[in-house]
Amino acid sequence: MRALVTGGAGFLGSHLCERLLKDGHEVICLDNFFSGKRQNVKHLVPNPNFELIRHDVVEPILLEVDRIFHLACPASPVHYQYNPVKTIKTSVMGTINMLGLAKRVRARILLTSTSEVYGDPEQHPQTESYWGHVNPIGVRSCYDEGKRVAECLMMDYHRQNNIDIRIVRIFNTYGPRMAINDGRVVSNFCVAALRGENLEIFGDGEQTRAFAYVDDMIDALVRMMNQEQHIGPINIGNPDEFTIKELAKLAIDLARSSSKVVIKPARPDDPVRRRPNIELAKKVLGWQPTTPLIVGLQKSLDHFRDELGIKEA
Ligand code: NAD
Ligand code: UDP
Repeated sequence: MRALVTGGAGFLGSHLCERLLKDGHEVICLDNFFSGKRQNVKHLVPNPNFELIRHDVVEPILLEVDRIFHLACPASPVHYQYNPVKTIKTSVMGTINMLGLAKRVRARILLTSTSEVYGDPEQHPQTESYWGHVNPIGVRSCYDEGKRVAECLMMDYHRQNNIDIRIVRIFNTYGPRMAINDGRVVSNFCVAALRGENLEIFGDGEQTRAFAYVDDMIDALVRMMNQEQHIGPINIGNPDEFTIKELAKLAIDLARSSSKVVIKPARPDDPVRRRPNIELAKKVLGWQPTTPLIVGLQKSLDHFRDELGIKEA
């Protein structure tokens, strides 16, 4: 199989490229290097089955592929709010272009949607049948609504053109190869704890997230693409729920850091609670996460220690 991975030089994309090569596939990695970097896939470049293309998914492209993993889209609030108009263009035009490609070459296409389609959820934990509670005009909507349109496009191309689609809704995922300046909470807390700097909590820290380790996530993406039973959307995440305060304490403890926690103003529209119901993933994919937060966080700290050139205390 020849697989295209859009956003392949990003955090999840680079792990996915690695896994697909290991499974014996040819991989075309496409990225505009907005939030991803060449460094993430540098080690794959010598592999004759790997090809790296600088391209923006907002522009069409023609490639001969069997599978499209469509990940291209900034995922950290800091990145997607930097140029919100570009973010929504990436989700909408990027997904139209990739669906157009899928249609032309009859490829199966998987979209990495997000738990953000549930917004600030009124149902807890969130199941796939929940329609969400998204502010359509807020600062997060370029991402949330962008992904909701992307899902809509996937479904309409499926119904109208019989395109072979898969949709996953990814919940907060973390791990090695997140950029130091990524801006999401796990990388921010690991980096601050290792540097002995303050960990900044936005709001009272009682908001919750459920954190999935990258290896578990990649395994789920591959299973989703390879099965014939369900087009999705299917939630993928780790249902163990933590407050942001608990996460901060864990990061400080595991890093054996002297860092302190400081409270900063809450971010606008910050979802208060988030946790996936993963019964569908269990049933359809035979999948559930196996990496507890404490283990994944330790691995992430090891990665950031290397990146920062800090020796273990
Ligand atoms: P990331 O920012 O590391 O990766 C995104 C990649 O897409 C980057 O390499 C970036 O350069 C590339 N990109 C952005 N805009 C592009 C464009 N217009 N054309 C081509 N490439 C472009 O983030 P990630 O965590 O690896 O996220 C990957 C995907 O998974 C995204 O679609 C994101 O919405 C989804 N997702 C991730 C999480 C998570 O917690 N990691 C949660 C929900 C959904
Ligand atoms: N957060 C925080 N400090 C940080 C980064 C994030 O307190 O340095 C909080 C943020 O307000 C949110 C949660 O951590 O409540 C998760 O934020 P993130 O940006 O990782 O992802 P989100 O799930 O909000 O998209």
